[in-house]
Amino acid sequence: MEHRRLSGRLVVATHNPGKLNEMRTLLAPYGVEAVSAGEFGLPEPEETGDTFAANARIKAQAAAQAAQLPAFADDSGLCVDVLGGQPGIYSARWGGPEKDFEMAMENVQALLITVDALTAEKRKARFVAALCLAWPDGHVEEFEGSVTGTLIWPPRGTKGFGYDPMFVPEGYTRTFAEMSAEEKHSMPPLGLGLSHRARAFRLLAQACLDE
Ligand code: IMP
Repeated sequence: MEHRRLSGRLVVATHNPGKLNEMRTLLAPYGVEAVSAGEFGLPEPEETGDTFAANARIKAQAAAQAAQLPAFADDSGLCVDVLGGQPGIYSARWGGPEKDFEMAMENVQALLITVDALTAEKRKARFVAALCLAWPDGHVEEFEGSVTGTLIWPPRGTKGFGYDPMFVPEGYTRTFAEMSAEEKHSMPPLGLGLSHRARAFRLLAQACLDE
């Protein structure tokens, strides 16, 4: 299938300044200017989808319609194998209104204990990121990236966010929270892309962006 290429201005459908900055950095080498949904005063739609991809699409399409410009959105989370993929699309919501991820990680650990998941073998998990580019005419381009790893306890490290302190990516001994952002995302041309978001973005760049 032909992918649609992106140029000019792009609305980033997030109200999170951290995510907007990350996108600005990723898009800058491709000559795409990222503007925030906040600058357009766009409302935040409810994430009613039951997959990462569906939620990314809801956010991207709502922003593209409202701004009448191409729009980008992502949705991501942690899926734990022995917990049937939980917390999954509810990863952010497990942090509660206070976005308390120490509590969310304790919750994951408590559930792992209830299913007797004490060995590395039983504590496999993966981070997933779904990215969606939507155009005002309804066209969408969708990409997904993931990284597998093991959940450790107690958590280690102070960098990153969310569930990073308990996640050790496969092939490494340190958690994501013990890595710099450069190492965690490890973007090309220097890295091959380690994090779920970097991997998904790489697919998006190959399909839709001009070097
Ligand atoms: P979103 O903003 O709805 O995509 O929420 C994703 C949630 O998943 C975040 O609040 C984090 O809790 C978790 N998450 C996603 N990506 C990462 C990551 O790279 N490290 C740690 N936690 C993550």
